[in-house]
Amino acid sequence: MMYKCPKCKLPMGRAEVGAAGGIGIFKKTGKISAKWSNIHCYVCATCGYIELYAEKPDIFKVDENK
Ligand SMILES: [Zn+2]
Repeated sequence: MMYKCPKCKLPMGRAEVGAAGGIGIFKKTGKISAKWSNIHCYVCATCGYIELYAEKPDIFKVDENK
């Protein structure tokens, strides 16, 4: 998927979010288990603007019936 910088309108390059072993975001689902999603990072090589996307956004779907 191609993302464009909202400021420069130029294509953004894929980057990795730091920390050895991988850093990510997660949703607590109980005492032990948690749903985990890696982060996809895109950076504009012109202005340095960064966008972060969850690899598995469906994990964080809001249940509107609760
Ligand atoms: Zn830019």
